[in-house]
Amino acid sequence: MNKAKIVIIGGVAAGASAAARLRRLNEAAEILILERGKYVSYANCGLPYHIGGVIADRDDLIVTRPEKFASWFNIEVRVCSEVISIDRGNRRVLVKGGEGEYFEPYDKLIIATGASAFTPKTEGDDNPNVRHLWTMSDMDNIISALSGAGPNPKVTIVGGGFIGLETAENLRHKGVEVSLIQRSHHVLPVFDEEMARPLADELRAMGVNLIFGRTVEKYENAEGGVVAVLSGGERVFSNIVISSTGVKPNSELAVKSGIECSKGGFIKVDEHMRTSDENIYAAGDVVEIAEPIFNSRTHIPLAGPANKQGRITADNIAGIESVYKGTYGASVVKVGKYAAASVGMTEKRLKADGKKYRKIYIHPSSSASYYPGASRMDIKLIFGDDGTIYGAQIIGEKGVDKRIDAIAQAMYAGFKADALGELELAYAPPFSSAKDPVNYAGFVASNVLTGKSTPVYAENIPDGAVVLDVREPSEVANGKIPNSVNIPLGQLRGRLSEIDKSRLVVASCQVGLRGYLAERILKQNGFNAANLSGGYLTWKAVNSK
Ligand code: FAD
Repeated sequence: MNKAKIVIIGGVAAGASAAARLRRLNEAAEILILERGKYVSYANCGLPYHIGGVIADRDDLIVTRPEKFASWFNIEVRVCSEVISIDRGNRRVLVKGGEGEYFEPYDKLIIATGASAFTPKTEGDDNPNVRHLWTMSDMDNIISALSGAGPNPKVTIVGGGFIGLETAENLRHKGVEVSLIQRSHHVLPVFDEEMARPLADELRAMGVNLIFGRTVEKYENAEGGVVAVLSGGERVFSNIVISSTGVKPNSELAVKSGIECSKGGFIKVDEHMRTSDENIYAAGDVVEIAEPIFNSRTHIPLAGPANKQGRITADNIAGIESVYKGTYGASVVKVGKYAAASVGMTEKRLKADGKKYRKIYIHPSSSASYYPGASRMDIKLIFGDDGTIYGAQIIGEKGVDKRIDAIAQAMYAGFKADALGELELAYAPPFSSAKDPVNYAGFVASNVLTGKSTPVYAENIPDGAVVLDVREPSEVANGKIPNSVNIPLGQLRGRLSEIDKSRLVVASCQVGLRGYLAERILKQNGFNAANLSGGYLTWKAVNSK
């Protein structure tokens, strides 16, 4: 590449990484970042943590300032400079800056305009106390509104996704009274309901007033704040509302200039991040990308994909062929003592799409169970009849992120669910078990795929089945599945004659392991047997309201 002029619209995750990579590849190019906000290259992911005081110094959120872009990279950054249109015919953009409007020519253009917080139109949402948390200025405004709200500030958060949850936790750190309103019956949309249950318990333990199954019908002015009127008629007063109900792509520029976009308004790009205009690339939250599991298209607003796409865009502009293969959506969020992580599709999504799937639940220990401090994690693995991994969800106090990463990499590599059992994973007692939870998920999936184990799920135990609880009586005394029969595993071989051979026998234990052992004994003695996946723990999560 030569002295081409590359203009980048948007200077945060995708835009900043494209700019820096371009410079590393080409000393001669002229690179200009146009950013409508006051900051470039800042950590929007850190915003909730500064509100909570965990990241004490606001300046720590700013990764690279314009002066550093200039001195380290010889990249010009113009903040407070909004691109208001793209003139593709003349290869130039119209910019509105502090000194009025002007045209800026380009040879190659990168649209890295990201997404914005989106709230469905609600009566009264123009109330100044109804806010979002998306930018540094949003964060500053929230902090200053809270400091002016008197000794006991109250905040209502609408939406229990990543940002809503992180904001709730951080506000509680600050002693703020928090109500969280969620349309569905569980938080974290990338989780299925039964897997998200511990998060609700944890939020309540943190003092969050959780309101499920409600939407905000309207906002009303109130002295010192705003009242959210909910679909059930409840009225929730707070000093401010933080609406975290979703995002929409900032693609108006692309749409208006005739660049091809999806129905949802995301910019369509090829695997090189090139748009329908060969001189214009796009990356980050604003694009639609490949969904590799079912070979469809998706949009996933996460920082990792945005950064990688920025880098890949730069490679291709610099003449290095580089391909973006798609996003599985690996994500993790901290909620109190828990980490909740997921990748791929939820069961809810697969059902809605009419896909056939299998699933398993396991509850292994984060590290060797004999090592002090080991704690339980809940894992749900979803896969197809051919073993293709469709998705996974993990919640626990320790080691959750590395397990989801291992599964995500297996998905990326095209490994099947049973191959998780073969992954080589580092082990010493403080960190894992010789059979890591991910290996264990692979073993269980393999047993299911090869018919050694037939899983039955808590939500649909077949009518007429005998539920055989093989736990010890002391465990059963702490809770059991109604109408289950208890024969402890150690006595099972001697008491087979007590079990009705004409009926399906669903073996059940605490987490699914002893149930599987019982299932194998039963099957090899001529019973029609199955194992309750995830045992009593999963049954309780599914059946508790
Ligand atoms: P952005 O980072 O949003 O940057 C786009 C920039 O373009 C903006 O600065 C905008 O002002 C500018 N722009 C838009 N239009 C114009 C225009 N016309 N002219 C000039 N400039 C324009 N992701 C994770 O993976 N993990 C997390 O923990 C996480 N936490 C988050 C917490 C919060 C509070 C927020 C808001 C986001 C979080 N994300 C997280 C998401 C992540 O930050 C985004 O996916 C990522 O920043 C997207 O990068 P981007 O470059 O596409 O867009």
